[in-house]
Amino acid sequence: MFPNRVVLFFVLFFSLNSFLTAQNADFVRNSLLQKSRQATKYFREQDFEKSLLLSREVLKKALLINDSVLIAASYNTIGSNYNEFSEFDKSIEYYKKALFYANKTTNDSLKFKVNNNLGNLYCFEKGQYELGIKHYKKAIFHSQNISNHTYTLLTSLNLTWAYFDKSNFEEGLLFLNYCNANFKEYGSDALSVVYQMVNGIYSSHIGDYKKARVFFEKAILLGYKYNELNDVSYAHNEFSKMLFRMGNYKEAYIHLNKFNEIKDKIYNEDKLFKASIAGLNLELDEYKRELTKIELIKEAQNQNLRKSKIIVILFVIVLFVLLMLIFTLIRNNSFKRKVNRELTIANNDLLLAKEKAEEASQMKSQFVSTISHELRTPLYGVIGITNMLIDEYKDLSKSQHLSSLKFSARYLLSLVNDILQINKIEENRVVLESMTFNIYDEIEMIIRSLSFLSQNNKNKVELLVDPKIPEYVIGDKLRFSQIIMNLVSNALKFTKNGIISIHVVLEKKEGKINHIGFKIKDTGVGIAAVDQDKIFDKFVQVGRNDTDYQGTGLGLSIVKRLLHLFGSEITLESAIGQGTIFSFSIPFESDLDKTNDLINNIRVDLSTSQIFKVLVVEDNRINQLVTKKIMEKNLYKCCVVDDGYEALKILETEIFDIILMDINMPLLNGFETTRLIRNKNISTPIIALTAFDKEEISEEAISAGMNDIIIKPFDQSKLFKAMSTLIYDAKNVG
Ligand code: ADP
Repeated sequence: MFPNRVVLFFVLFFSLNSFLTAQNADFVRNSLLQKSRQATKYFREQDFEKSLLLSREVLKKALLINDSVLIAASYNTIGSNYNEFSEFDKSIEYYKKALFYANKTTNDSLKFKVNNNLGNLYCFEKGQYELGIKHYKKAIFHSQNISNHTYTLLTSLNLTWAYFDKSNFEEGLLFLNYCNANFKEYGSDALSVVYQMVNGIYSSHIGDYKKARVFFEKAILLGYKYNELNDVSYAHNEFSKMLFRMGNYKEAYIHLNKFNEIKDKIYNEDKLFKASIAGLNLELDEYKRELTKIELIKEAQNQNLRKSKIIVILFVIVLFVLLMLIFTLIRNNSFKRKVNRELTIANNDLLLAKEKAEEASQMKSQFVSTISHELRTPLYGVIGITNMLIDEYKDLSKSQHLSSLKFSARYLLSLVNDILQINKIEENRVVLESMTFNIYDEIEMIIRSLSFLSQNNKNKVELLVDPKIPEYVIGDKLRFSQIIMNLVSNALKFTKNGIISIHVVLEKKEGKINHIGFKIKDTGVGIAAVDQDKIFDKFVQVGRNDTDYQGTGLGLSIVKRLLHLFGSEITLESAIGQGTIFSFSIPFESDLDKTNDLINNIRVDLSTSQIFKVLVVEDNRINQLVTKKIMEKNLYKCCVVDDGYEALKILETEIFDIILMDINMPLLNGFETTRLIRNKNISTPIIALTAFDKEEISEEAISAGMNDIIIKPFDQSKLFKAMSTLIYDAKNVG
């Protein structure tokens, strides 16, 4: 009737009891515990219906309070009941559930029992030894955890029998040895039949039939004594197998018969039992459905719980992300606002700084131009009067003092001009102009104008111009001359008893563009390598000797900047005592048509024996004197007035060929006076004679009605050329 080899359910309740009592004194649990205990009791008394009903009730409540120990215990009892009905698959299913819940607990005793029950089912009912042995081994592991040797012995016996059943005597022997060593201490009457029998099986296997016989006979004796009929039947069977192998067929037959007899008896009892529970089975179906329903509800609840947990977690995550986002947004926003504020402040500061810088720059320009104007005006007087003195008193021309005075005045003038020039270049106010000129003539003129310097230092100047260079080129003649003038005058200043050679070659021609190379070479003092970069900086003078020469230290700086405007770079080769070579290349346009036009338009002779009347409008007495002298020396009839009003007055009664008009005058300035003159329909040519820079006033001068501008102190030939051209044009038009 009990197909499982070693019945284990009797110990279930007691360990459960001790565990729960230790865990909880809680009333509900205690009452559930009582009921669980009662279910086990019903099972033992074979009142399966009551056992199942009570287990179901306990399980229902245990599931509600989520008590894994009680759930596992209930499932275990249910599994055991099914085992009794030989519904092994169902039984395994419930044992597995029991194991699932038992594994959630720390209750090794519970885990041991469920594993042992599963081992029994797999090995001896389902024939799945591998699986069964795995559960037995787990059971042993849990029994050792709680040092329960009785449990260990029980499962070891089961394992030995399982290994022997599948003829693995080697493994089985390990567990048999354990049983033999511990049976005396931990064994029991109920287990003694199986214990003797497995020993019999092993002795029979190793051929020790005598010993085996003793074991089998003892097993049978004890089996009958303790009424372990099922075990006795197996003992008869195993004994019979051995006798059969020994050839003792008669005795073997007797034991086989005994085995069959007991089996039949058990079978009949089983049949009766099954018939008795047939009705119960019908109810059980209903019960099973209920149980499944409970589990489904529980599962659904769990799922809902899981779902709501996930939803809550997701919600928390989304909320967190949202909060982070809002936080970042707020932070970014405030950061942006802060940066914006700072930027606005910085911007305002920058605007203010820019305005200040512009103001400062404007003030600087204004300052430079005013200072130059203010300096040029008296310089005009000084130079003019010095010239007058030399003219009037020929003896004085040899005076050292006078020549020093003239030199100083010229130096001062060149300094003012240089500063003005560099200031203009730095402020990008210089725009190159296009004029047609002959390179040879221009350089030749410069050399001539510097002849004084050449003679002083006893230098010879050579000029070699490539004949391939066009007769006339187009470019800014004035700026070009300035470059050559500076370089040649430097060469002359820093060379004594030497040779200055100026070489001009046509390097290449690209359409109308002639790349013309210039080399200004001297045999003078030379420039040390360390100084070669410095000398192009402003106000840099190397090894200056005051007695030798006076320079402003601006010459090369102006040269370099002017060459930049031409799109060129200056290079320098020099060594101390070896002389110096400055080289550069300028692209000049050549236009034959323009050249021809120009040549055709050259006036053959502007000079005339006629005496012209000039009106000089000038407030500065000294300058009045100087200009008057110059005019008269050049055979102009000169009338000088102090201011604009006087000019307007005299023009009412007198006719002049030309008017030289100062700009900076009190009461009525040069522009206003000109405007008033033009308003009176007087078309006499007017030349602005001023210490202002030409570019600065040209626009206003033209709009006021002036015809030309000459800067004081002026080159006399330039002034007279301009005067005669204007007079000639006026007369021709008139
Ligand atoms: P400066 O008005 O003093 O001539 P520059 O800018 O023209 O100013 O020249 C700067 C310095 O370069 C000069 O003081 C001189 O020492 C050096 N230098 C320029 N040209 C020559 C040269 N041909 N030979 C030797 N030294 C020169």
